[in-house]
Amino acid sequence: MVPRPQATRSTLRQNEARVLRTRMVSRTDRACKQPAFRPWLSVLAQPAPVDRIEQTFYPEVMAPPRYVETLCQSALNRVQGMPFRWSLNPYGGCRHGCGYCYARRYHEWHGLTAGDFDRVLFVKTNVAQVLRRELGRRSWRRESVALGTATDPYQPAEGRYRLTRACLEAFRDYASPVGITTKGTLIVRDLDVLRDLDSLVEVHISVITLDSALAWRLEPGAPAPARRLAAVERLAAAGVACSVFIAPVLPGLTDGEQALRELFRACAQAGARAVHVMPLRLQGSVKPYFLARLQAEFPHLVAAYRRGYAQGSEAPAEYRQRLRERVTVAKVLAGLAAPPPRPAGPRPGQQLALPE
Ligand code: SF4
Repeated sequence: MVPRPQATRSTLRQNEARVLRTRMVSRTDRACKQPAFRPWLSVLAQPAPVDRIEQTFYPEVMAPPRYVETLCQSALNRVQGMPFRWSLNPYGGCRHGCGYCYARRYHEWHGLTAGDFDRVLFVKTNVAQVLRRELGRRSWRRESVALGTATDPYQPAEGRYRLTRACLEAFRDYASPVGITTKGTLIVRDLDVLRDLDSLVEVHISVITLDSALAWRLEPGAPAPARRLAAVERLAAAGVACSVFIAPVLPGLTDGEQALRELFRACAQAGARAVHVMPLRLQGSVKPYFLARLQAEFPHLVAAYRRGYAQGSEAPAEYRQRLRERVTVAKVLAGLAAPPPRPAGPRPGQQLALPE
């Protein structure tokens, strides 16, 4: 394992946020696919001005991000094939830098690569004003909006842009329901607004492992797992409806029987109302990108992943079934579910192997 470097003054200087004060207009995320909406490509070659120091969670050395400030003409995105019909993303790209992130491929809409997802970040500086306009329409039916589906709304940039907070204030003022998904512990800053939203808000904190060293290798820019669970505890204690997403579960890395049981128990102890689990999916360009990260960090697993995901983006059905059984037991032991059907037999082994 690569030892975690210590934070130094020069590290912090490297991590000083850079902002490209590029003004451009994008109608929607979809509109950004058009070449006319890609003026930043040439700007990226220019030296970026040094801005204020950005809050970081791990004292690691990461390439400094570049921010492209944009103006959006619509804030709410209509979604199909998901459990929600509307989504909202104040940012594009994510500094948390999870190797497995399914949203990496959306950066291709901007003419960028999956690897640029944590290096070039888009900031919709007017998103809250536009959202207010949309929530104020007489035609708006107050359907629930999923906040943070293609980016983390509490990534470090939120510390200074405060766009997520401004959006939550809009949801509060228009009494419109919202669900937030995040790994960012910065969410506790907005406890006051979350309390005001009361039953209109539900928070989902994402935690895939309790092992902070493993998390650091998989999610190098995200807060440590213990800090995320502490955030769950703060939210639950404040009466905010809060659940945990163990998503994705990574075969051979985070699916150990004991590890899952301990994670479920920790979620229950923190006060999570529910825990939802989803196995890893590798769609489009995320597959080669993740396999390259795997090769660098966990080369012994590459062959199994290539086999397991050879037929598509889903883990094999047999693996998903065995994971479901393991999760069902872990849920019950943590007091988070009704008793499961009796398992067919003992399942030894710490991690689940992908089928041959
Ligand atoms: S925190 Fe979420 S949006 Fe950000 S990189 Fe990780 S998975 Fe992607």
